[in-house]
This record gives sequence, C-alpha cells and structure tokens, in this order.
Amino acid sequence: MKILLKRHELFMVPLKDLVVFPRMVVPFFVGRRRSVKSVEEAVRLGRPLFLVAQKKTAVEEPGERDVHAVGTISRVLQMMKLADGKIRLLVEGQERAVIGRYTETKDCFRVIVRPLGQSADVTPQISALMRTVLSQFAQYNEITKKVPPEAVTAIESAEMPDVLVDLVAGSVPLKLEQKLELLCLEDAHARLERCVAVIASEIELASLEMEITGKVRRKLEKTKKDYFLTEQLKEIQKELGAEGEDPTGAKELEEKLKAKGLSAEVSEKCQKELKRLGRMQPLSPESALLRTYLEWIADLPWREATTDNRDIDRARQILDEDHYDLKKVKERILDFIAVRQLKGRVKGPILCFIGPPGTGKTSLGRSVARCLGRSFVRVSLGGVRDEAEIRGHRKTYVGALPGKIIQFLRKAGTRNPVFLLDEIDKMSSDWRGDPASALLEVLDPEQNHAFMDHYLEVPYDLSDVMFITTANSAHNIPYPLRDRMEVIEISGYTEFEKEKIAEKFLVPKQIQENGLGEADITFQKSAILRLIRGYTLEAGVRNLEREIANILRKIAREAVKQGQMPQRETAAAAPSAEPAEAPGQEVDVPIAAPAAAQSDSPGSAAAEPARSAAEPLVPPAAAPTAPLFKVVVSGRSVEKYLGKVKFLESTFSQDMKPGLAYGLAWTELGGQLLAVEVAIVAGKGELTLTGSLGEVMKESAQAALTFLRAHHAALGIDAGFTKDRDIHIHVPEGAIPKDGPSAGITLTAALLSAISGTPVTPASR
Ligand code: ADP
Repeated sequence: MKILLKRHELFMVPLKDLVVFPRMVVPFFVGRRRSVKSVEEAVRLGRPLFLVAQKKTAVEEPGERDVHAVGTISRVLQMMKLADGKIRLLVEGQERAVIGRYTETKDCFRVIVRPLGQSADVTPQISALMRTVLSQFAQYNEITKKVPPEAVTAIESAEMPDVLVDLVAGSVPLKLEQKLELLCLEDAHARLERCVAVIASEIELASLEMEITGKVRRKLEKTKKDYFLTEQLKEIQKELGAEGEDPTGAKELEEKLKAKGLSAEVSEKCQKELKRLGRMQPLSPESALLRTYLEWIADLPWREATTDNRDIDRARQILDEDHYDLKKVKERILDFIAVRQLKGRVKGPILCFIGPPGTGKTSLGRSVARCLGRSFVRVSLGGVRDEAEIRGHRKTYVGALPGKIIQFLRKAGTRNPVFLLDEIDKMSSDWRGDPASALLEVLDPEQNHAFMDHYLEVPYDLSDVMFITTANSAHNIPYPLRDRMEVIEISGYTEFEKEKIAEKFLVPKQIQENGLGEADITFQKSAILRLIRGYTLEAGVRNLEREIANILRKIAREAVKQGQMPQRETAAAAPSAEPAEAPGQEVDVPIAAPAAAQSDSPGSAAAEPARSAAEPLVPPAAAPTAPLFKVVVSGRSVEKYLGKVKFLESTFSQDMKPGLAYGLAWTELGGQLLAVEVAIVAGKGELTLTGSLGEVMKESAQAALTFLRAHHAALGIDAGFTKDRDIHIHVPEGAIPKDGPSAGITLTAALLSAISGTPVTPASR
C-alpha cells in the first residue's frame, strides 16, 4: 500500500525515556511493531521522523493520549535492521513541532504537526539571559567536565536563543521532566529563564557531588594507604622474623599470666585486656600501653613468697653480726619476730625506727629481712608530696606507672618482703593529694589486704608484707600514721660506741668494699678517734663510715700504683657502698629461690657484704705469692689522707669569761653544746640579738631581760643596768637556725654574768 503524505504529515515514533532536541544526534533502538513500521515507511519515503516522548514509560502500546504534544522532527542518519526485527537508529533533531492530529494509529503512527519555529527576535533582555545561560554553562562544565569540546564550541557560538537552549538542554544530563519542560515551552524568553534555573540547580548538585566524591575518595585513599602500609609492615615483620603467630604478644602474655595462678578477679580483668590487645594493631601506641600494663601484672609476685625463718637464736645471731650493741632495739625486734611466728599472720603494728641519721635504722631493716629470710626493699619517702607516687597514676595518663609500693613489690619478687619506708616524716602534702592518707591504706591491716593501685586497677594483697618505717623525729609523722606504728627509738651514739662500731663493723666492711680484703690494713684507735672528733659531727656513724671509705680508697689507689695487690679481671675497688639503684631506693633479694627458702636455709647468707665483719682479717692464703700490702692508719696520718680537720674538737672553752654561758641544744644530728655570749657596750638601751634566732628564742631573751630587771634587788645588780648601754646577745654557730624556749635559763645566766661581770661557774666544778 502506498501512503501519500500531506506536507506536515509525518511518521511518529513514541520514545520511552528519551527527549530529542533539535541539533542533537542520538542513537536508539526501535522495537515496537507500530514504531518499526513508522520508521520503515519514513525511510522508504525519505521523510523525517517525528519523535515524541511517552508520558509513562511503562505503557507498551501507547494511544493518542499517552504521548506528549510536543516532539521533534528528526532526520534519520542511519538505520540498521537487526536479526530480531528491531532497528538501530541514528537520528538528528531538526525542529520542534506540536501534534495537530493523528491520521493513523493502527499499523503505524502518522500525525500532522505544526512546527514551533524559532524566535528571531533577540531583545536586550534575551541577549542578557543568553549570556547568563552561557556563563552558567561554562561554570557547570568547569565543575563536571562532562560536555564534549565540540558541543561546547557549538554552544558558545549559538546566536539564536532557541538554538542555545536546545544545545544546552541536549548536552547537559537533565532529568526527563526538565528536558520536556524545556522542549515544550514555546516562548524563547521563558525557555531561557527556565534554562538558567535548571542549570543553576545542576551546578549546585554537581558541586555537592564533587565535594562528596572528594571526601569519599580521600577516605578511600586513606583506607587504601593504611591497608597498604599494614600489609607492608607485616611483610617487614615477616622478614625480620618478628611476626609469627602472635604479632601483638597477646598469646605470650596469656601463657605468662596463666602460669601466675591469679585470683579470679585479676584473671578476669587480664582476659578482658588480652582480648582487646589481640584486636589491636601490633605496633600502635595503644597496644604498647596495654602490653606494658599486662606485663606489670605478669611480673608482680602474686603467689611467690619466702618461708619465714622461725629460729630466734639464729635471728639474734644475725642481728649481732650486723650491728653493734643496740641491745634494747634488738630485743624488741626479736620479741616482735617471735610474736609474729607464734600468731602466724598477725595483723600486728608496724615497726617504726626513730633516730638521727646514720644510726643504723635502714641497716636494721635489712637485718630483719635477713633474720626472717625475706627479700628486702627500701623506698625513700623524703620529698614525696603526690598521692600518685604511692598509689600510681590512672592508666589514661601519659606515661602512667604504678605507685612506689607496687613498683617495689615487683622488684622484691615476693609477696612478703620486708618493706622499709624510709623517712616517713619527710613526706609533705599539697594540692596533688595527701600521700599520708594513701600510706595509711597501705599500712592499715584492716584495709591493706585489698590495696588498690590506680594503675593496676585490681586489688593487691599487702597483708603479708612486713612494713618497717623510719623517721628522724616522731613529731613530724602525721598522727594517724604514728598511731598505727610501734615506735622503737634509736638514740645517737656516744664517742665510745662510735669507736667500737668503726673498729668492729665499719672498717672491716669498708676494707672489703674497697677491694682491700687481702691487704693488711689496721686503723689505730687514735685514727678512729681523730675521724670522730675532727672530721664528723653527727649522732650516727654515716659520715664516719664515709670518711673511713675515703681513706681506704686512697689506700687502694696506692696499692694499685705500687702493683702490690693481686689484680682482678673486673674492677674490684668499687668505691660506692650503695647498690646500683636509684638513690633512696634499693632492693635485696635472698639468694635462695623464694619457694625453696627454708627456715634454716643458709641460702641468703652470702647476700650481705656486712657479714665479712665477723671474719678475721687474715693474710690471703689463696695468693701466697702476692706481696702483702700493709698499711697502718694512725691518728696523725689521717690528715694526710683527708686534709685539714673539718671540725674543731671542742667548742667548749675552759676559760669562762663574764657574759658567756653554755646550754645543751637538740639538733637533727643529736646533741650539741650551745654557747650564748652577751656583750654590754655604751649606747641607748637597745637589745640586739644575732645568730639566726627564731621568734620564740628572741622572746626568751626579752623575757630573761625583764626577769633580771624585776629581780635586780635579789640578784644584787643595778636597777638601771640598761641605761646608756646596749646589750648584744649572740649565739654562735651562726649558720644553724635556732629556736625554742629551752635556752631561757642559759640566756638569763649569760645576761646576768655580763651585767654583774662575774663568770658563770659550771655546775661540775
Ligand atoms: P639510717 O638509716 O639510720 O640513717 P643507716 O642504716 O644508713 O642509717 O646506717 C649508716 C651506716 O652505719 C650503715 O652502714 C650501718 O651499717 C652503720 N651502722 C649504724 N649503726 C650501726 C651499729 N650499731 N653497728 C654497726 N653498724 C652500724
């Protein structure tokens, strides 16, 4: 059948989701019966097609009402029939047109259309709008870079408003409705305005999209980078042989912790943390912190303990071996040990040794540990002002650690060491908390079975630890602490005692410590006395020991210089008497394995160098060929070793002049003679006090003066003794601050002596 077409009668193809604009070249498939027929007929007749969008894409057999009114007259550029009867079509849009009426809908679609034409009227308004469209398009393309360059050139050179809108709408991927709207609008002005709005929203969307994709990309890049780095790290670890099965060390720690026989509570906590560790990156800082924490738990002695020596005689022997005299103290310690043995785990008081420095408090503590066969740890509390030093910092702190108590228990290696808390009176408190109250919890037998360290976060049982504290004076110890302690006073030593201690203990000990055990060294009594009187001023014997060590070091040097001593491979003459620990903190652990230590075990016997004190100084049998190095230190040679005497032997002047009186003073170093000197000179009745006197002492001086004025008649002195005269009271030893009311009588005596011009007569005469 031959179809004759009127001038504007065209074959129509309904399009499902495509809008074709004039000047747009698009390929698409045609498959529906009537559409295929329309295409075939149009091509056969060499006629353009009328392409129009369907209203609903789901409709398979569209009728007149199912398509939009406006479509595009399009030229067929290419047609290809496919095997399945479908057609592949390439068309180019030519002109917009609106459907007038349908002439055929049964076999194919034929419609009579009315072309919409193009507006040729470019008003300034339109021209401005066109410019806006162009600049927006440029902006859009700048962001998306989606439009091909030839389309961009065409758009930029468009002169007519409709051409511009058609080109832009054809190149920008708009929604179907937006495209339809732009296609259907007749008026060029309205089309341009719509175009501006549509592109503006596209720009917004595109930039938003860019932002999001940018973020996603960065995130992806980071994840990719992390992944890549971890993989690389694994490879490196593999290369180094560090990876294995257990990169975080969690398994190894688990084994270690299992072997510790922890309590249910601690074990549960560890399991939780181990799980967390297993999930962490092996080399991350968090995993390092967690590992450290678990290592702390694994290293603490939870069950390891020594068995106490119950032999009192042996304990006495050890105490005697280590210290001279101190009978009362030793008895007290033995009583204490005995009661502890009888009652087993006693919640007993804590021993507190109070006495001046160098009187053997610390070394007594060590002896107690030796008596009992326990490990020994010492912590100095001097200057501790932060509660966290006792109780630790919470794990969340940078560089957090357990407190001193837990730290030193780890060092002790057993859960029942003798724990010496040195200088308990030197603690102070400030805004960081009160260490004394934390210490109270440590020492209180009612609480210390579940001591909570902030770092550890699990309770630790301190009830088997034997705490011993030391202090220089009792009145600086916080009352609640003192209340829990059993005070054992150690007073200073007399000159006689010092001499004996030096001869029997300090000299032999220092000879060993300075590597002179095989030499023949004798300290004459006169040398020791010279050291005591001229080189030390103390209640204890610490400086005396230091000076002895000083001399012995010089002798050791001499011996090495003369090559008269057998040489050791390692440096024998270690000058330091302290173990290589941080100052103020030391640890002694019995040589015998903790579990194996029996009450009669001699295992720990070799641990202490002081033991050598009991050994006689015999010439070395082991090295008979080595010439014996012999030195006798006499009173006179002391000066050769140590230089000039540091202290004048006695500040006590036998020659009592008027205005001079002596009192006894208590100092941290023990006791001391305190001279008070008064001079009366011409003046205006002023009282001058010099010699670092405290307020109370100044008041004492005023009181003494008033007393003398009040009792001048009874004392037989002139009532106006201050008239036209200045009184100067001086207490020498100027650098040492002095205070307290105890010098009152001395001040009065010195004043009276000065006023009356009569020397004070010492009571002994
Ligand atoms: P403190 O702790 O009281 O300040 P130390 O315990 O440090 O004093 O003692 C200082 C030195 O003096 C130690 O080497 C100690 O062995 C020694 N020492 C003190 N008193 C005696 C004593 N009675 N017998 C033997 N040595 C003593």
